[in-house]
Amino acid sequence: MSSGFLDHLESVLAGIREDGLYKVERVIAGPQGGRIAIEADGVTHQAVNLCANNYLGLADDADIIAAAKTALDEFGFGMASVRFICGTQTLHRALEQRIARYLGKDDAIVFAACFDANGGVFEPLFGAEDAIISDALNHASIIDGVRLSKAKRYRFANADMNELETRLKEADRDGARFKLIVTDGVFSMDGHVANLPAIAELAQRYGALVMVDDCHATGHLGPQGRGTPALTGTDGRIDIVTGTFGKSLGGAMGGFVAAAQPIVDLLRQRARPYLFSNSLAPAVAAGSLEAIDIAERADDRRARLAAHAKRFRQGLSATGFDLVPGETPIIPVMLHDARRAQSLAKALHERGVHVAAFFFPVVPKGAARIRTQMSAALSEADVDFAIDAFTDAGRSLGLV
Ligand SMILES: *Cc1c(COP(=O)(O)O)cnc(C)c1O
Repeated sequence: MSSGFLDHLESVLAGIREDGLYKVERVIAGPQGGRIAIEADGVTHQAVNLCANNYLGLADDADIIAAAKTALDEFGFGMASVRFICGTQTLHRALEQRIARYLGKDDAIVFAACFDANGGVFEPLFGAEDAIISDALNHASIIDGVRLSKAKRYRFANADMNELETRLKEADRDGARFKLIVTDGVFSMDGHVANLPAIAELAQRYGALVMVDDCHATGHLGPQGRGTPALTGTDGRIDIVTGTFGKSLGGAMGGFVAAAQPIVDLLRQRARPYLFSNSLAPAVAAGSLEAIDIAERADDRRARLAAHAKRFRQGLSATGFDLVPGETPIIPVMLHDARRAQSLAKALHERGVHVAAFFFPVVPKGAARIRTQMSAALSEADVDFAIDAFTDAGRSLGLV
């Protein structure tokens, strides 16, 4: 290998470090939870965890673990096959039918991740004659998936319904055969919910389909945790829902597309990440099935999650932190500058609170933040501990 290439990479890495944008992974010695054991230099210490997508606290749930263990014994460790060759077990079909029933759709198709679901959903369904109209803040996997399709691409500024309407008109003028509006259900960096009633209304007026990526909602938002369509009363008007088993629903891995039968059937024939990638491990499928059962009746966990979010918001606002307003368990604390965000994250870490600083390229330059996420796994005392740590760290750094 030419040393020039590796030297080039070293200089790119040095640039990332100089810009204060270098990400370092903390290592956890134990299960995911409200309190975690962080290991550094051979020493472990406990921390309150405010950065998992473990909204319902199911990542180490005893019933889910038991379901996964039983599946290991009954169905083995792995499938060593893609679904259509010899990788479909009763478990996989049960999971697909269960998530579809939960979300009120005909059927669903499971992928190894929602990144794959979003990567594979557009190309088989939409061709060069069609238009995909996408919110500018949509998840990276949607952006990549749309790029992989031949459909004509249109973009509207985040949550800007006037611009969405302009794009729908443009697509009509361009002679689009079918139009799809695609949005995140919850925008994960800011924590706000998409305006699905307005989107559904525009979709109806312009004859467009609607797809919602509900990764940050399925399981914990809306009645029975059925996500943003249920939360906003638009269930019947959303054509395609994609989501993950890697967040609220147990947090292991796996993604899905839930939709009308012909949509799911065609994806099973043509979606490339489905055709050319291994089946979900049986234990993960069984654990995720159990997670849906738990989530559906977890009003107690949802109430605790909402109470924590309210308490944490109030505590940090009272201290003078700049929060992005919202009604989800995602509570971003704005620091704007990447280095300030990193210093606060470090100071919190020293005070036993684990948070993640987000900065470019995950959020725009100048919009660096600490994104906190509440979890039903936290106790009220954990939330208060975190508020005190933020207050102390923020004051000692002169941020509040
Ligand atoms: C997390 C997330 C994904 C990716 O899901 P995985 O199952 O982890 O691949 C896709 N879209 C959104 C909006 C997400 O938040």
